[in-house]
Amino acid sequence: MKTPPLVNPGPSLTDEERSRYSRQIVISEVSEVGQERLRNSKVLCIGAGGLGSPAILYLAAAGIGSIGIVDFDSIDESNLHRQILYTQADIGKRKVDIAKKKILEINPKTDVTIHDSRIDNMNALEILANYDIIIDATDNFATRYLINDAAVLLNKPYVWGSVNRFDGQAAIFWSTYGPCYRCVHPTPPPPGSVQNCAEAGVLGVLCASIASLQVNEVIKAITGIGEVQIGKMMIYDALNSEYSKIDIKKDSNCVICSQSAPQQKLLEDYEGFCGINVSNEISAKDLRKKFADNEDFVLIDVREPEEFEQSCIPGSTLIPKGFFLDHSALSALPADKEIILHCRSGIRSAECLEIIQGAGFTNSRHLGGGILAWEKL
Ligand SMILES: [Zn+2]
Repeated sequence: MKTPPLVNPGPSLTDEERSRYSRQIVISEVSEVGQERLRNSKVLCIGAGGLGSPAILYLAAAGIGSIGIVDFDSIDESNLHRQILYTQADIGKRKVDIAKKKILEINPKTDVTIHDSRIDNMNALEILANYDIIIDATDNFATRYLINDAAVLLNKPYVWGSVNRFDGQAAIFWSTYGPCYRCVHPTPPPPGSVQNCAEAGVLGVLCASIASLQVNEVIKAITGIGEVQIGKMMIYDALNSEYSKIDIKKDSNCVICSQSAPQQKLLEDYEGFCGINVSNEISAKDLRKKFADNEDFVLIDVREPEEFEQSCIPGSTLIPKGFFLDHSALSALPADKEIILHCRSGIRSAECLEIIQGAGFTNSRHLGGGILAWEKL
């Protein structure tokens, strides 16, 4: 679909910009006007992982003027095969900090805003409102529905992507012109029915193919060139090197984007809607009480050694996430005590918890909000 440019052009490019983007400006459809629109645009990338890494690099290189990044995780070794923003030396550091550094290395003129927090129904509208277009580079359903709903309520386009093993998909959802994510998937799949990246795996290079499709839609939407792929699901099969597209339609009964939509605001609980089990969590406050009561349990820190050295919860034992992924940590776990896992923010520990519970260590929980929540008490 042909859509009007999302962003206005002007003022004129500087000589430095003309030189930097000369190979892009020389394309007549882009021209200096298109480059001005890119420079004036504000793009938010939610997630700086497998899809976010290549997406952010290409946004910066293309000359996007303002880039926002939402991520609250740290870099670990198992990220490096696909999260190409990061190197060995970055392990243990915050993703947003390194992502900002890399963007400024590519283009020091880029205005970078980092949002080092989990996006939730309290902050989503406020964060998204500052941007022209949003890239969803996350890998969980609760965030996906939240971003979709916030984008619909704000009338903003958002570009979704997903990768799994050898297969990837991408789509631009823009309820002004076509379907939203909920039109296609009105309700999330049952919990446990979809494997996450840690369980199913992903071919690293596949992330670049899908992120590239996402950034391509962003550039077309901003500049108004070509056909923005509204109402299409783009599918890439890396094993057969095949791209295909299927039509997706607006649902006239969609609860969020239809004219008679009953839902005019964000849900109160996306995790509950997506069936995410929060009963496996222990709060930082309850964990402190367990220590105060001298309860018998083991606390395992699944972060990287560099992070553990910087700060740790007294009494915790370090077993980095990688040892859970290859199951070698299991032999070190006690069978007769409660096990509590923690990481920086609760993402990695939730992943490890799933693994140990699957292996039979059912008397186990993880610290909601991680050491960040612990330190805030
Ligand atoms: Zn919809």
